Amino acid sequence: MIDSHCHLDRLDLSPYDNSLDKALVNARSKGVEGFLCIGIGFDKAAEMVELQSRYPDVWLSLGVHPLDHEQAVDTDTLMKWCALPEVIAVGETGLDYHYRPETRELQLDSFAQHLAAADELRKPVIVHTRSAKKDTLDLIRAQKSDSAGILHCFTECWDMASQALNMGYYVSISGIVTFRNAENVRDVAKQIPMDRLLIETDSPYLAPVPFRGKSNEPSYLPSTAEFIAQLRGVSLEDLIAATTENFYRLFPSTKT
Ligand SMILES: [Zn+2]
Ligand SMILES: [Zn+2]
Repeated sequence: MIDSHCHLDRLDLSPYDNSLDKALVNARSKGVEGFLCIGIGFDKAAEMVELQSRYPDVWLSLGVHPLDHEQAVDTDTLMKWCALPEVIAVGETGLDYHYRPETRELQLDSFAQHLAAADELRKPVIVHTRSAKKDTLDLIRAQKSDSAGILHCFTECWDMASQALNMGYYVSISGIVTFRNAENVRDVAKQIPMDRLLIETDSPYLAPVPFRGKSNEPSYLPSTAEFIAQLRGVSLEDLIAATTENFYRLFPSTKT
């Protein structure tokens, strides 16, 4: 299975002698065969590119997280980093009016710039969206190309998911689906067409049951995969095969 969204630079590596190598070895031993590492700011971009270069099964996406906007995104910096061949996606970007409603204007401007970069570079975009249904859909609808993207760690309503699916987007479900009060996420996770579903840890955040409260890591992805397979009434093997194939379809360069 493939962890379609993890922040490998932020993992708690203390159980692994502070070695990312060891953390990845453990995740691979649990069946995780690839990792899309997500950068959330350009100050650490060089470090992220270096990290990615050490592992053939780690891929990289770069952008500025919507919760981190203190100032406008610099278009040249965005284009410079996202144009690198080893950067396979743009983001994470998006809109989060739940935690930072006061930076709405900055978020809108940044999201539009990321979408324009994705269009120009013909790379998929990684979208974080929370309490911003209309604006998120309006902006992705305005995208010119068919490069599409991923609504990651999706926790919004089915109507929003289905509108994005109609625009060619994929929807990624995180460990939140295992949380007791996440009935709406389970409802969405059941309905996403099998050929548009992705899975992720969003580690180090949001560890799934039975690891809640711990720092999340890619090796916990099987818990989420098993949960979604049961929820949908399919075998774990089928769920893994479908979500893995979906990832390789969206990112053909990652398939070896
Ligand atoms: Zn996010
Ligand atoms: Zn993230």
